[in-house]
Amino acid sequence: MSLRIAFDIDGVFADLESAYGKVVRTLFSETPADSEPPDAAEPADDLAASDDIEPVHPPGLTLSRWQESEVWREIEETENFWASLPPLEPGILKRVQDLAERHRWEIFFVTQRPDTAGETVQRQTQRWLIEQGFDLPSVVVMSSSRGRLAEAMRLDYLIDDSPLHCADAASESDTKPVLVVRHDDPQRRRGAREMGIAIVPTVAAALDLLEQAQEMGDQPGFWKRLTDSFRGSRG
Ligand SMILES: [Mg+2]
Repeated sequence: MSLRIAFDIDGVFADLESAYGKVVRTLFSETPADSEPPDAAEPADDLAASDDIEPVHPPGLTLSRWQESEVWREIEETENFWASLPPLEPGILKRVQDLAERHRWEIFFVTQRPDTAGETVQRQTQRWLIEQGFDLPSVVVMSSSRGRLAEAMRLDYLIDDSPLHCADAASESDTKPVLVVRHDDPQRRRGAREMGIAIVPTVAAALDLLEQAQEMGDQPGFWKRLTDSFRGSRG
C-alpha cells in the first residue's frame, strides 16, 4: 500500500514569516508596536484572531491585534501574495517528488491560507509548488480541524509546523504527526514528546524519517523507536 503523506506549506516549505515581517515593516516602520488604531478607523474585523488563519509570530515582533488585522488586510489586498513567498529549504520539493516517485507515496499539500487578490489560493499555491520543483501538486485548501482532515483523507503522516495541528491529528486520527521545529523550543519539544509526535528541525530531516518509516513500517513499535531516535538528535 502506498503511504499517504500530507505536508502543511507555510513554515514547512514557504517562508511566510519573512514575507509577513516585510509587510509589518512597510506598514509600521514608524509606529510603536503598541499603537492603537486612529480614532477615525473602522473597528478591525479581527481577521488575525480568526481560527481560519494560522497565527504568524516572527521572532522579536510584537504586534497589537489591530496591527495584526492590518497586516492580514494588506496581505489579502496583495495580488497573488502566496505565489511570491521565498522557500525555506530551496530544492527540497524536488526531493519530495523524487522520493514520492521512488516509494510510490501519495503526496498532498494542505493549507489554511486565506484568499488574496488575484488567483485562488489553490492555483497560487500550485504554481508556487511547481516552481519549487514538484510537478503535479494536489493542494487542499481547508480551514477546519486538521485532525478531521487527516482522518477523512486517511493520511499515514502529516508534516506540519503547528503543534496544535499535530496534536489535533494525533488525537482525532490514526495519522502520525511530524512537527517541524525550526527555532529550538524545549517547551514545544516536551509537549510533543508526550503526544507521540515526532520532531524534526527541517523538512530534509522529516524526509529522512519518512524513508526510515517506510522501511520499518511492518515492525511493531517502530514509530516509538523512530520518534525517540529523532528526538535524541535534538538533545
Ligand atoms: Mg504552517
